Amino acid sequence: MVRKIQKEHATKMGKELINPWDSEIDPDGKEPLVPFQDGKELLNTTKSIFKDIDPFFGDCLQTMDEMKHLDLDSKAGKAPGGYNYPLYEIGVPFIFMNAAGAQRDVATMIHEGGHAVHSFLSRDLDLTSFKNLPSEVAELASMSMELLSMEKWDAFYDNDDELNRAKKEQLVGILKVLPWIATIDAFQHWIYENPMHTREERKTYWATLQENYGNPFVDWSGYEESRTYAWHRQLHLFEVPFYYIEYGISQLGAIGVWKNALQDKEKAIADYKAALTLGYTKDIPTIYKTANLKFDFSSKTVQSLAQFVQKELKSVS
Ligand SMILES: [Zn+2]
Repeated sequence: MVRKIQKEHATKMGKELINPWDSEIDPDGKEPLVPFQDGKELLNTTKSIFKDIDPFFGDCLQTMDEMKHLDLDSKAGKAPGGYNYPLYEIGVPFIFMNAAGAQRDVATMIHEGGHAVHSFLSRDLDLTSFKNLPSEVAELASMSMELLSMEKWDAFYDNDDELNRAKKEQLVGILKVLPWIATIDAFQHWIYENPMHTREERKTYWATLQENYGNPFVDWSGYEESRTYAWHRQLHLFEVPFYYIEYGISQLGAIGVWKNALQDKEKAIADYKAALTLGYTKDIPTIYKTANLKFDFSSKTVQSLAQFVQKELKSVS
């Protein structure tokens, strides 16, 4: 599916092979989407969307706003990045980000908002350890929120063309991240299973992974070095070994939550809230089960979830 998307991208640009820096641009040459002007507008629109999904979600952001627990706008000298920081004692988290008016910032705000809702729902648990969530659980909350909110994104966009572009970007991103997660996971397993490997062997292995999972419609001539060391950009390899597959697990879980919501929204939201309220008082499969998800990553399940995303993608293309 990703190959097909990558091929279409190149074809739209009138090329068989594209430049490495052209893989994420709009192939029709359209200007970037501008969903909001400043952090205030981003917050107010997100608040109304959250309220629409579930009044409690809107209340969470409202409380954070009143307590000045939101630092959203990008400014000179501000550290890059975005995160929700749980404050276990007070039970009201803090969101830090660098919003600059892009669709990516909308996704980040909603993502961090999902983490924030998780903090609120688990704040009354007895032990801090219960609120300290493993990423399979934490990212399920945030990634699901991104997808659950998507049907309300018209609050950010004036016309269907822009709205569909934003949704398409989101769904294509979901499909594209899975082979990248597979690449990083395979790479670090190989590294640790072959501790005596040479630099040359490592380069060769990375190249093999690029053949299997990379974009075959990119011409890397003149930039081979960049491709060889592309793994340098994944900080998890250096700082948190073997902590990356969790994103794949959560992403697949989030697709499941979204799929449930399209069938029975009320039940899906109730199940999602019930799962988040558990914090980390149960094992991960039980938490997934509470969210009405199968904790199953067989090719059959992955295929069916990916086909679902592909079908939704068609409806906005
Ligand atoms: Zn997250």
